Amino acid sequence: MQELIRNIAIIAHVDHGKTTLVDAMLKHAGVFRENEAITERVMDSNDLEKERGITILSKNLSVHHGRYKINIVDTPGHADFGGEVERVLTMVDSVLLLVDALDGPMPQTRFVLKKSLDLGLKPIVVINKIDRPGARADEVVDMVFDLFCELNANDEQLDFPIVYTSAKMGYAKLDMTSESTSMEPLFAVVESNVHPPKGDAKAPFQLLVTNIDYNDYIGRIATGKIYSGKVKTGETLALIKQNGAISKGRISKLLGYEGLKQVEIPEAVTGDIVTIAGFDDVGIGETLASAEAPEALPYVAIDEPTIS
Ligand code: GDP
Repeated sequence: MQELIRNIAIIAHVDHGKTTLVDAMLKHAGVFRENEAITERVMDSNDLEKERGITILSKNLSVHHGRYKINIVDTPGHADFGGEVERVLTMVDSVLLLVDALDGPMPQTRFVLKKSLDLGLKPIVVINKIDRPGARADEVVDMVFDLFCELNANDEQLDFPIVYTSAKMGYAKLDMTSESTSMEPLFAVVESNVHPPKGDAKAPFQLLVTNIDYNDYIGRIATGKIYSGKVKTGETLALIKQNGAISKGRISKLLGYEGLKQVEIPEAVTGDIVTIAGFDDVGIGETLASAEAPEALPYVAIDEPTIS
């Protein structure tokens, strides 16, 4: 349900603990192990060879926590992929800005924070590694605040929520003096501070293609956020090129995220991030839309280096 979806990205300087934090969140939500079991069962009842194609390890992931579904989209780790960072950030409604409690903000922290602020996102600041000997969480918060100011954050952005974590030990807290043994406070802050994705659930379906990948079993796959309407597997959609050309095709597979894996889903709603197979000439920046009322989504082209 749209109201219960939260789309976020975790942005950080390398080594500040992004991977460890995601693992801690998955572990806390208990989805990892459980979903592995589900995937196994699904595979048992299907043609194993055919199904292998959809158990690709996704770059994005999804964590179910209580009634909420939190989609965490992956941001490229290298500053050179500037354009891609921006593109990915257009899918989310907030970012967790992860900063090492001893090292403080680093060049890449600045880079990704600037992109997020420029896009109008209101970050949640996560001070990680508070268990490190010599950690100076309060000082680092001040440094982060100064960085926000330097990057011309607006008042709303400056009023960022702060969560203190030890991703390694698996706990999060809202102030340094409190005690905590779990990641629960981080989830609470995400669920209450990040707004649900916007978009008209009753309007015709529209998805902006943000990423393209290729899979040996199912061909070219397109990932993006559903801006309006809903979609069912097997449905016929219109593919709208950036020059306005429209062609029609059928969804051969609709994939959602369960923990770290992509799994087939029967349908998806506004605000969710999904992957669609069946369109062999689909490209980044194009729109997949309702076949009856195809309308393109605006796409801001981003200059980026060609990676060969
Ligand atoms: P990434 O590059 O941002 O994905 O960082 P990783 O998650 O790979 O973490 C980098 C290193 O920092 C690893 O050696 C982690 O074990 C360590 N690390 C991550 N979180 C914490 C933490 O909360 N406390 C401490 N002491 N170390 C951590």
